[in-house]
Amino acid sequence: MMTLVDSHCHLNMLSGSGTLEAVQEYLDAARDQGVQYFLNVSVDLETFPQVRDQAASLDNVFASVGVHPNHACEVSCEELIDLADHPDVIAIGETGLDYFRNEADAIPEQQERFRQHIRAANETGKPLIIHMRDAREDTLNILRQEKADQTKGVMHCFVEDWETARAALDIGFMISLSGIVTFKNATALQDVARKVPDDRLLVETDSPYLAPVPHRGKENQPAYVRNTAEFVADLRGQSLEHLASITTDNFSRLFGVALN
Ligand SMILES: [Zn+2]
Ligand SMILES: [Zn+2]
Repeated sequence: MMTLVDSHCHLNMLSGSGTLEAVQEYLDAARDQGVQYFLNVSVDLETFPQVRDQAASLDNVFASVGVHPNHACEVSCEELIDLADHPDVIAIGETGLDYFRNEADAIPEQQERFRQHIRAANETGKPLIIHMRDAREDTLNILRQEKADQTKGVMHCFVEDWETARAALDIGFMISLSGIVTFKNATALQDVARKVPDDRLLVETDSPYLAPVPHRGKENQPAYVRNTAEFVADLRGQSLEHLASITTDNFSRLFGVALN
């Protein structure tokens, strides 16, 4: 049976996600599409307990801990290390740099917070989930300066060109593609999707945001990672089964979790 992993979703932001039963319905719908594992990604410390508790209560759901670059919330490396000390927390993030939605004067704080996350990843050995928007150079430079190649991680919802993908691959990171790759005008990104080596590719929904074609405009949900996987498999001239198998192996290897 085919196994897909949604390597990046926000289950606590889905509509009706206040109850575990409602979230379970989304997961059941996903399993009907072969989507068996889910990484529930933290964006701030206020909602992290909910993200972690969903992972602890629901089968095959993992969690991360981190503060999104656009969330102005101070966090230290020590705090992150402390919060990451939980069996279901397998990653640090999402962190990184986002200059698109940013107030310019918050850039130094973003960068400092990013550095704290990288140090926590290297300290705990839990890989990084990187959010990068309109901040290619600074993101890659800080990853290099803080030696993020030690623990590695994933460039989530990757939307940049091949040159940037190449630079991220060179420091050992994986490239995760979201529904954006299915959009008609995403030709540069589709080029990246063809070129990423088999052993460095992941797929994700980033739900509830940015549903892939043919669900564009609707609330995104983990089941739809299958649409992205089908589209990417097609671009690469691979079967869906092959794409599912390589991306699931990659997830398992990167985050050190056994998936059956
Ligand atoms: Zn993000
Ligand atoms: Zn996200």
